[in-house]
Amino acid sequence: MYYTSDSVLFLDGRFVKAEDAKVDLFGQTLHYGYGVFEGIRAYQTINGTKIFKSHEHYERLKRSCDLLSLPLSYSEEELTQLSYQLLEKNNLSNAYLRPLVFSGPNMSLTAPKEVSIMIAAWDWGKYFSHTSLRVCISSYQRPNPKSIRMEAKACGHYVNSIMATTEAKERGFDEALMTDMNGFVAEGPGANFFFEKDGILYTPPLGNILPGITRKTVLDICHELDIPVQERLFRPEELFEADGAFFCGTAAEITAIESIEGQSFSKSWKKTFGSVIQEAYQNIVKDKSYSYVIV
Ligand code: PMP
Repeated sequence: MYYTSDSVLFLDGRFVKAEDAKVDLFGQTLHYGYGVFEGIRAYQTINGTKIFKSHEHYERLKRSCDLLSLPLSYSEEELTQLSYQLLEKNNLSNAYLRPLVFSGPNMSLTAPKEVSIMIAAWDWGKYFSHTSLRVCISSYQRPNPKSIRMEAKACGHYVNSIMATTEAKERGFDEALMTDMNGFVAEGPGANFFFEKDGILYTPPLGNILPGITRKTVLDICHELDIPVQERLFRPEELFEADGAFFCGTAAEITAIESIEGQSFSKSWKKTFGSVIQEAYQNIVKDKSYSYVIV
């Protein structure tokens, strides 16, 4: 699914066949989740293949490394160039890129002195199998920002995400929505969250969530299209009165939410800001103008 016998990935300064790439089994990333990664999308645009917000993603990767004391020497520009080369070598245009910074052999509980980096790319269509999601409020909360570095996209944080999504599916839902350690709505396991009520969009503020690059793009779109948006804390109960809601993330893009705990919204998706933003987002990632979208 992720590679074939022809696929190539970037590993520590070289492009190698994915099936020949080897990793040491005694690394902290494998044993303790001590590593960081990114999820990036490239699109076939009217101006050729474009990696969406490559600089921002590699900036976050480097910040994640700094927060975990992982010594990554590549610059954002170098990583962007390598990513374009990787797409070309794999003949990919619409693709998902997965850079991973991981540790070599080291069973101690101190940060490694050296790290490895790999970047893989594959064709990954829609992240969710449904266009509109039935979401539950998870029994799992997001990690306490005082026990980890919430702004870092660290591998180990995704134990929490996998548990939440698995629980949601076991309960018959498509996806989970998690609260923070104080019971305020935080985010999905792999996406940020927005809801609409009485002509205003709301999203949790930074602090207890991953600072999503798509979330920032949504805020920019709102600014451009004069859609009122507020960053504030809110509890799950408020969502039962909402007019609409959506998840946003690089993999998820803008995905409509159909219901929360079985309760649907007062507006149909097409009549919400979410639908307008979804269209604008697709236009931006494909380098098309979106100024014609009238709210
Ligand atoms: N929150 C979490 C927990 C995520 O894993 C992601 C996906 N990276 C997001 C939010 C959205 O971030 P972005 O828009 O940068 O992909």
